[in-house]
Amino acid sequence: MTSPLARARQVGSEVAARHAESVDRDARFPHEAFSALKGARLLGVMVPRAHGGEGASIADVVAICHALGQHCSSTALIYAMHQIQLACVVRHGEGSAWHRGLMERLASEQLLLASATTEAGVGGDVRSSVCALEHDGARFTLQKNASVISYGADADGILATARRAPDAPASDQSIVVVLKGDYTLERTSGWDTMGMRGTCSEGFVLRASGEIAQVLPVPYADISAQTMLPTTHLTWAGVWLGIASDAVSRARAFTRAEARRKPGTTPSGAARLAETVNLLQLMRANIVAATRDYQRAMDSVEALTALAFAVEMNNVKIGSSQMATQVINHALLVCGLAGYRNDGPYSVTRHLRDAHSAAVMINNDRILANSAGMLLALKDEPEMFA
Ligand SMILES: Cc1cc2nc3c(=O)[nH]c(=O)nc-3n(C[C@H](O)[C@H](O)[C@H](O)COP(=O)(O)OP(=O)(O)OC[C@H]3O[C@@H](n4cnc5c(N)ncnc54)[C@H](O)[C@@H]3O)c2cc1C
Repeated sequence: MTSPLARARQVGSEVAARHAESVDRDARFPHEAFSALKGARLLGVMVPRAHGGEGASIADVVAICHALGQHCSSTALIYAMHQIQLACVVRHGEGSAWHRGLMERLASEQLLLASATTEAGVGGDVRSSVCALEHDGARFTLQKNASVISYGADADGILATARRAPDAPASDQSIVVVLKGDYTLERTSGWDTMGMRGTCSEGFVLRASGEIAQVLPVPYADISAQTMLPTTHLTWAGVWLGIASDAVSRARAFTRAEARRKPGTTPSGAARLAETVNLLQLMRANIVAATRDYQRAMDSVEALTALAFAVEMNNVKIGSSQMATQVINHALLVCGLAGYRNDGPYSVTRHLRDAHSAAVMINNDRILANSAGMLLALKDEPEMFA
């Protein structure tokens, strides 16, 4: 078998790209790309080898998100969201027989996991819940008014946050894995949006029941800080980098075509293209450095819970979400009318619409407010070349 990245590139260029337009136009789940990703065994890549996976690293997964993002943003974002759930199970489920069994199924059956963190009543504050797990002996029940569950209708399972128990405070949360058969979804809202239309991020009332053993055996506060937050910001950033990279590729192709059309002259957009490539490089450098830092910190709970680390992960989200639209706007200027058209090889309109989701997926203002609080307590700048 070739490397996961090589397989992802093939699925991206041969399948996801072909259907990206209809996925966007019809706001439909990218079925073709996901059957190809399952066929290429890319859904379970992060599962450790001992449980039947390939033990892929966060850097591998960010690279895959980048590769897919160049062809179909919705496919790439769904892939990223699935891997975020998988990362939580892999890192925090090893001590639980139920979750070890789940890892084996994730690898062998290539199950697709969705996420229900956002909840009516708390907005995007993922660190507090209204709903609670109701215990009944060795079993639980849960009802959650989840305002957004991307691809909820197409997933094989969902990771849902909830208060640990009905008498627990809003921030005392657990995360539970429920698989098809354990839950029902009652649709409460549709998904007719500017971009990321194929993620089908509809609202649902989730009603679930199962064994207490399905609850990850670590408080959600720890899972969030050590795994969910960094993995989310890095894989999302990988997706946005992919979208921006494709817009830049189109700007480069447009400029080359202009140069061929008027031999001996430098196309008027060439200087703007050089600036765009520079911005893309800055964006990439930020994501590569933060991915490397997460990988270095991974084995130390102390490093992962340091304020400076949390601020760095927040910054990679803020920086790359802002830069994605900036880079694509520049690509639009380079391509001009050909970029502004919804059709043709130089169109960057879908890229721009999709990239605008980045700032509102966990709102940048909310993240900045969170970083501002931490910066008040953080005395020194972290070592830059450590
Ligand atoms: C494409 C897409 C897919 C998604 N998929 C999922 C999914 O699968 N599962 C899931 O659970 N969620 C999902 N979400 C939801 C996402 O994770 C966020 O929870 C959601 O986007 C936040 O929505 P909001 O802006 O209404 O809420 P909020 O974050 O509450 O923001 C509401 C308003 O309050 C402002 N605000 C909030 N806090 C502050 C602050 N501290 N300082 C200043 N202003 C503030 C914001 O600027 C905004 O104007 C998805 C979102 C998108 C866009």
